[in-house]
Amino acid sequence: MSYADIILPVPLNSLFTYAIPTDMAESVAFGKRVLVSFGPKNHYVGIIVRLHDNKPTTYKVKPIEQVLDDTPLLLESQLRLWQWIADYYMSPIGDVYKGALPAGLKAEDGYKPRTETYIRLTLPYQNEPTLHVALNMLARAPRQQEAFISYLTLSGWDNISSEEWRNDCAEITREELMNASGTDSSTINQLVKRGLLETYEVEVGRLNLNTEPHLENIKPLSDIQQEAYNQILFSFMKKDVTLLHGVTSSGKTEIYIHLIMRELEQHRQVLFLMPEIALTVQMMERLQRVFGNRLGIYHSKYSDAERVEIWQKQLSGNPYDVILGARSAVFLPFQHLGLIIVDEEHETSYKQQDPAPRYHARSAAIMLAKLYNTDASTPAPKVLLGTATPCMETYHNAKTGKYGLVELTQRYEGIELPEIQIVDTKDLQHRKMMNGPFSPLLLARVREALERGEQAILFQNRRGWAPMLECKQCGWVPRCQHCDVSLTLHKSMNQLTCHYCGYTYQIPTECPACGCKQLQGRGYGTEKIEDQIRDILPEARISRMDLDTTRTRNAYERIISDFSSGRTNLLIGTQMISKGLDFGNVSVVGIISADGMLNQPDFRAYEHAYMMIAQVSGRAGRKGKRGLVILQTKNPDVSVIQQVVHNDFKTFYNDMKSERSAFNYPPYCHLIYVYMKHKKDDVVETASRELGARLRQWFGSRVLGPDKPTVSRVKTLSIRKLVLKLENGIDMPRVRQYLALAQEQMLQDKRYASLQVYYDVDPL
Ligand code: ADP
Ligand code: ZN
Ligand code: ZN
Repeated sequence: MSYADIILPVPLNSLFTYAIPTDMAESVAFGKRVLVSFGPKNHYVGIIVRLHDNKPTTYKVKPIEQVLDDTPLLLESQLRLWQWIADYYMSPIGDVYKGALPAGLKAEDGYKPRTETYIRLTLPYQNEPTLHVALNMLARAPRQQEAFISYLTLSGWDNISSEEWRNDCAEITREELMNASGTDSSTINQLVKRGLLETYEVEVGRLNLNTEPHLENIKPLSDIQQEAYNQILFSFMKKDVTLLHGVTSSGKTEIYIHLIMRELEQHRQVLFLMPEIALTVQMMERLQRVFGNRLGIYHSKYSDAERVEIWQKQLSGNPYDVILGARSAVFLPFQHLGLIIVDEEHETSYKQQDPAPRYHARSAAIMLAKLYNTDASTPAPKVLLGTATPCMETYHNAKTGKYGLVELTQRYEGIELPEIQIVDTKDLQHRKMMNGPFSPLLLARVREALERGEQAILFQNRRGWAPMLECKQCGWVPRCQHCDVSLTLHKSMNQLTCHYCGYTYQIPTECPACGCKQLQGRGYGTEKIEDQIRDILPEARISRMDLDTTRTRNAYERIISDFSSGRTNLLIGTQMISKGLDFGNVSVVGIISADGMLNQPDFRAYEHAYMMIAQVSGRAGRKGKRGLVILQTKNPDVSVIQQVVHNDFKTFYNDMKSERSAFNYPPYCHLIYVYMKHKKDDVVETASRELGARLRQWFGSRVLGPDKPTVSRVKTLSIRKLVLKLENGIDMPRVRQYLALAQEQMLQDKRYASLQVYYDVDPL
């Protein structure tokens, strides 16, 4: 063979052909990485996917410069999945390659591991007397003193002797310290300059590598669980995909463990997908106790080095038998895959939003299983989807027989599902009975729980202090200069933040519109909830879990382990706490407000609200006794609230089903969103109209828009969106061809040279 087709990490949907120099003829092979030059000055690491003898006629072929691997890094089954993702989600194969391979395997000249900066006390100050000297020294620099004390608290100084502390102090990142103390990096730098603190770098994810786990015996299943287990195995004989619909705390995880065990006994591998990092900590510990070092873990908070190691191990003669991972784990190589478990299959974080490929890991997992073998004599791996609240599409597929369906309607040991009490906050506000965002009932129940030595969770799906700042007099609201959104107030950091682009702003002292000095936060974020509950329940030991408090992997683990060990007894959080966490002692869950979820302008709003409420509620009363949920809302009569209170998933599903069918939404059609972005609003406006018109020629009334999306400018780019509603059974490959053609024709127009066009297929 004299030519090789290569995938390069560029956003283009084609393979590139390079010549194979004679001295490399022996070393080239499918799946090996090569170094090639591209364009006048770029060098890339590409991957060989085909060898052939067809000389390209339209351009001059360059030679491969170097073959980087002795053995292939990619299996054929992986490439089949890449290809499917590229086609189905309309993302360039180069983007799929970029998203699939760990960074360390794509870099041209080695790679720099990502590191985090940690802070520690310098040696001279690691004892009581000198520490007091230091504190006195800082008396005249209150900000530095505050930051310094924060560091001591976080590292555990104030509750253990300095001796113990030296052996076992908590490792603190600079970021954590800044978040906790509300200081900036210059204050911390001053402390470093004074020689009190010092910084050190640690590769992201390298800390806290668990040592030899203590193995535990697998727990025997209860009769009901055993029956579900048998049904699943039976279902696998007939269907490739099976849904395990089991209420929260019914023991789905225990069933997974038995299923995994069975695969391992038959020398097959298992891929266990989880939606988010927050859960992997607990799930990791649970699986590690059973599978020990046969379990490998793979997700984005792990270091590149670790991810490269796992990738290579999976190709070796001694791979992990079980991989627990977030969505990108579908891209790992597997040599004997037997089963894929997608836990919490309804989770929207399974869908990658940005950058491309915008794929759904559940669909990718199903396709991975389907495309895994080409040889018909070996059975395809099976897929088990598990959840207490299936998403509409999955449940529909299970009900119509496309997937198998196994149900578990009882919690382990017959404990009842939590009682959900609705509190009508509109009425209470009217009667001036609310204490900030809290109703008297909620406060009373939380207080009682804590007094009994139990724990409570407060859920509010907004982070920060207040979702917006508002002028009391004229109603002016500060907005992001780069995005079409209002800014969120973060009090501990003393700034306004854009949750779309991350840009931060000073808090204005007066309203630029009317000069009024009274600017007030409107609404409640988790930060404010925490602050207010501290005043009301000063004896509570509180921790908060949201994006702001969990920037590092350590922070996650610490918050979760503090709460499970009882060091804290009141956990406040966003949707991060709604998922899969298993705490035995939580008797009360408070949902501060369900209204934000209900009022989303989206056809999935009720579906998401149902899932969220049911999942958060599921954290209450898991061991030994029935839990209580206080659900605060201004809309107590909305159907979905009633359905979730009565745990009536079937009625909920039927309601949704008739609505979706009447208005033609998934699962009764396919949706594709076409997004266009450009710096200039008028350019994107005309471009989107033109593209809309072109598409209408072929697709007629299946095309809706263009419209401005709810947030119509992000990071200085204006956005337009076209919607394609395609009936089930339509020839999708053809649809994609037409879309690609229309895009190509558009982009030939010079005016649109810098227009970005991309697709969101099966949007959430
Ligand atoms: P789910 O995954 O459905 O939410 P879990 O598997 O987390 O449920 O089970 C809830 C709790 O009950 C866990 O603490 C789990 O250890 C316990 N549990 C469930 N099934 C069993 C069993 N067969 N034997 C012992 N404990 C069990
Ligand atoms: Zn004003
Ligand atoms: Zn912004």
